[in-house]
Amino acid sequence: MSTGKSRRDGSINKAGTGSEPSDSGAPRQSHRQAKPGGLVIVATPIGNAGDIGLRALEVLKTADAILCEDTRVSLKLLTRHGIRRPLLAYHEHNAERMRPKILERLRGGESLALISDAGTPLVSDPGYKLVQAAIAENLPVTAVPGPSAALAALVLSGLPPDRFFFAGFLANRSAQRREELKELAAIPSTLIVYESANRLPEALGDMAAVLGNRPAAIARELTKLFEEVRRGDLVALAAHYETTPARGEVVIVIGPPAAGEALGIPALDQALREALASLSLRDAVDRVAAITGEPRRSVYRRALVLTEGGPADNQDDE
Ligand code: SAM
Repeated sequence: MSTGKSRRDGSINKAGTGSEPSDSGAPRQSHRQAKPGGLVIVATPIGNAGDIGLRALEVLKTADAILCEDTRVSLKLLTRHGIRRPLLAYHEHNAERMRPKILERLRGGESLALISDAGTPLVSDPGYKLVQAAIAENLPVTAVPGPSAALAALVLSGLPPDRFFFAGFLANRSAQRREELKELAAIPSTLIVYESANRLPEALGDMAAVLGNRPAAIARELTKLFEEVRRGDLVALAAHYETTPARGEVVIVIGPPAAGEALGIPALDQALREALASLSLRDAVDRVAAITGEPRRSVYRRALVLTEGGPADNQDDE
């Protein structure tokens, strides 16, 4: 099925806005249009099927087709809301093959809704290359915003929400994960990380080792029956999940570096490496703490990461 007229209207994206002339002749936005043409990125619930917006339902009901990751997962949601539209699978294994066909349909003026299994498409989910390709051809792209686990976790975490960095999924393997964490360590913002529940203790341990024992929160099964937000610090949370394995879906939210840790891990590491080349651990820590003004405890923790690959809770171990 097609909407008929192609909407290739240049780089200004008019899809989904329903622009129409106002009394003054200037375009004004209408929210009445049910069927925007082009690609529409539609957010869906992250657990509770009730968390779907009215405009999302309208767009899904009227789309020529709905692109989804797993048709079985999406069919459940759509059936619950009485939506019966053709479903097209679009996921990492068929994306290369499907993209040209989808673009062809968009060129023909169809309205295609893109959803993922849960939350906002493209956010650790498929869709980025499709959106990029549609933009490159000036095909209309618009979004119906809605749930995303990252933002729900952030606002529930009790950690500073004014500035945050979404890191998506970190590597599964500890060595690579620690490398990635080193890059995140200097960012003066709250960090948001997606993780699988069974890797939680190991991931939290790596975070404590590389970032220091920052405040953190684990947001689990959000909007679902067993929703839980556990707040504490990285070491305490790692210990908790070590003895009490978590199930379900989780987001890790980590507080920003404390004031005084602003030097940034790469710079601190460089100073420490240079000092450790000629001094004992204790003297190197003293020297770097004196030069940088960083708290000796933070410098000592970094020195342990560099020399042994892990922190100690107690400086008396030194
Ligand atoms: N696109 C989704 C979004 O906007 O949040 C994320 C998809 S990503 C493949 C799935 C990850 O999101 C899970 O592994 C988990 O880290 C997080 N997640 C999704 N739903 C969640 C929920 N209800 N509670 C906690 N975390 C959730």
